[in-house]
Amino acid sequence: MIVDAHCHLVDDYLKPFLPLIIRSCEANGIVIFSNSMNLESSRISIELGRKHSELVKVFVGVHPWEANNFQEDAFDRLVVSELNSISGIGEIGLDWKYLDRVPMKAQRRVLEHQLQLAEKYLLPVNVHSRRAYQEVLDTLGRYSLKSVLLHWFSGTEDQMERGLDRGYFFSFGPTVLYSKKTQKLLIKCGLDRVLVETDSPVEYNACFGNTPSNPLFIYSVAYAISNILKKNLEETLNIMLNNSQNYIGRKMRWR
Ligand SMILES: [Zn+2]
Repeated sequence: MIVDAHCHLVDDYLKPFLPLIIRSCEANGIVIFSNSMNLESSRISIELGRKHSELVKVFVGVHPWEANNFQEDAFDRLVVSELNSISGIGEIGLDWKYLDRVPMKAQRRVLEHQLQLAEKYLLPVNVHSRRAYQEVLDTLGRYSLKSVLLHWFSGTEDQMERGLDRGYFFSFGPTVLYSKKTQKLLIKCGLDRVLVETDSPVEYNACFGNTPSNPLFIYSVAYAISNILKKNLEETLNIMLNNSQNYIGRKMRWR
């Protein structure tokens, strides 16, 4: 059993393939932390999680790219009414690459509101931090959060150290196959805080060609992680599963 700790299973791009992906994940023991982008995809994630409760762990959230359309009251109601169906809040964060499309003021407001919810209801957060590493770390530090996963973290080793000191987890995706910077961060992180992800359906031209990724790529990423950290694959899988369970605060069952 392996966990894809950051994936967008309900993305429109994957929709035509979803039944095949679900069957293949079942056959290969792949559990998915299904992250959402906005209110609508949060609702769809919840429905998918109801149908496949062992396989799909639901994260509801409003991504920084969607911060202009945040429907605060409706989102709060959804979280409160579905507390038993959700495993955490995600994908949330800040993205300085998108400042021209979504002003930082809106991104900050939406992030902070969701962090307040996560703090109040003891929910793990799945966090995006592109080009905003320092500010995201500063913001997270102002909250008392149950657990934090920094997904596709690409800040400095010092910034990672700050996260490690606070007990945060970091998830590594297909860039670890080819990016020297990601490989160095992985070594800095150490296996005890590592989770593995695909961020599907993101395309990784450098290693998987011009094709949308899907959670089935996860074993290739795990294999690369075990090689880079010079651990055997089985030990790597066991520790990463344990980390994933610690992150969401519960054991996962597999038939
Ligand atoms: Zn994502």
